[in-house]
Parts: sequence; C-alpha cells; structure tokens
Amino acid sequence: MSEQVKISKTCTKCNIEKPLVEFNKQTASPDGYKNYCKDCFREINKVLYGRNKKKIIKRILSKRKELKKEIKREQKQLKLEQKKQVELESQKILENI
Ligand SMILES: [Zn+2]
Repeated sequence: MSEQVKISKTCTKCNIEKPLVEFNKQTASPDGYKNYCKDCFREINKVLYGRNKKKIIKRILSKRKELKKEIKREQKQLKLEQKKQVELESQKILENI
C-alpha cells in the first residue's frame, strides 16, 4: 500500500493551496508543517513586531515621563531644603545681632 505523499497544503490564513516548501516545518504538527504559509507568517511577524515596537516606545516614553517627574520632585525638594537652610541661617544671624 503506497501512501500518497503530500506535496501541497492549504494555508488556513489565506486559504491558498501552496507547495510544502512554502510552509515552515513544525515537528509538533501532524503533517510536520505549520498551518500558515511563510508569506502569512511574515505578515503576522510584521504586525507583531509593529505592535511590540509601539509598546516598547510607549514604555520608554512613560518611563522617561516618570523620570522627569522624579527629577522635578527632587529639585523641588532640594529647593525647599535650601530655602529652609537659608531661613535657618538668617534666623541664626538675626539672633546673634
Ligand atoms: Zn497563507
């Protein structure tokens, strides 16, 4: 009994029947190939990468914002302390007059 060897497969994403060379291998799959063709995978990867890129940029931007806020807070704190210090010093001077 000769089993017919599959040489093509229909991509479940674009529904186009393509030769197996157009599919990436996947050992976990029953026929040894992925369900999406290489073209569709490329598309998916592009979308995923684009999404990740946006996410990464967003994360960097929000971190930068946080850092800026923190710096501002510290500067404010520093100014406040300096002001206090100056007041204390001037009070001391006034007391000694
Ligand atoms: Zn496809």
